[in-house]
Amino acid sequence: MSRVRSRRVTTNTDIYRFKLGDFDCVAVSDGTHTYAPPTFPPPATFLFANAPKERLEPVLREHNLQPEQWLEWTSPYICLAVNTGKHQVLVDTGADGLAPGTGKLVQNLKAVGIAPEHIDTVILTHGHPDHIGGNTNSEGKLTFPDARYVMWKGEWDFWTSGQAETKLDEHVRERQLKFARKNLPPIQGRLKLVDRETEITPGIRALAAPGHTPGQMALAISSRGKQLLCVSDVVLHLIHLEQPEWCAGTDFSPQQVVATRRRLLKRAATQNALVLAFHFPFPGLGHVMRKGEAWQWQPISTMS
Ligand SMILES: [Zn+2]
Repeated sequence: MSRVRSRRVTTNTDIYRFKLGDFDCVAVSDGTHTYAPPTFPPPATFLFANAPKERLEPVLREHNLQPEQWLEWTSPYICLAVNTGKHQVLVDTGADGLAPGTGKLVQNLKAVGIAPEHIDTVILTHGHPDHIGGNTNSEGKLTFPDARYVMWKGEWDFWTSGQAETKLDEHVRERQLKFARKNLPPIQGRLKLVDRETEITPGIRALAAPGHTPGQMALAISSRGKQLLCVSDVVLHLIHLEQPEWCAGTDFSPQQVVATRRRLLKRAATQNALVLAFHFPFPGLGHVMRKGEAWQWQPISTMS
C-alpha cells in the first residue's frame, strides 16, 4: 500500500507553508487592513507620495490601476514563522485589533500547530502598529509568554525615549504611539537589542533597513544554501521595485528608504533570494528581477 504523503505546500489566504533548506517556514497572515480616505489619503497619494504626477498616472495604468478610481488599498499583514530545528521563531506580531480584519495571527498559528508557548524568539522588524500590535493581549499580557524579543536598538530607542513624540507626523502620531505604549514596555525584560548586522539565531541574520522607520530591521534567513530575505516594509507595493524613488506618506526618511531599497533589492536579485514583503498580496513571497535601473517583482507560483 502506498503511503499518502501530505503535500509539502498548502495554500490559502492565511497560511502558506514552505521549506527553506532545512527550515520549516510558514507565511502567516494576521488578516487584512483596508487603507482608504478619510483615515488615509487615496492609495496613490498614500503609497507614492513624492511621485511626479506625469509619471505616476502612466505607471499606474501599466498595472491596470485607474488613478481616479483607485479608492482603497487592501493589504494583508504577513508574519513569518520559522522552525529552524532548534528555535521556533516568529517575525512580527501583526496588528491585533487595529482594524476589523486584523488580529488573526494566533488562530492562524494554531491552525498549523504552533501554540503561542512554542515561540521562543519574536523578531520585531519595526515599531509600527501592524508589526508589534500582537505583542500583548487585551489584558496587556504577553501573547508569546516564553519568547525573547529582538529589535534594532535605534528603533527601540526611537519609540521609548521620547523621539517618536516629537518627530512623528501629527497625522499618525497618536495611533502609532498608542500601540507602542501598550506593546513595547511589556517586552522590556525579555528584550535583546541589536545595533549591527549580526546573527540572531543560527541561520537568521539581522540586516539594517532604516528609512521606513529610523531603525527598521530586515532579515536574511539561510539554510543549506537557500536564502530568504524578509524585507518588512522596505517596499509596500510592488510598484516600489520598479520606482524605487517613490516613497509612502508613512516613510520616515525617504532618502534612507531609497538607499535601503537599492541595497536590499540589488542583493535579492544578484543572490536570487526568495523575498518576503509584509504588505504584498498573500503570501508575499517572490523573487526580484533586475529591470533596467530598477527591479520587477515576480511572485512565486502557489499553484503546485
Ligand atoms: Zn507595515
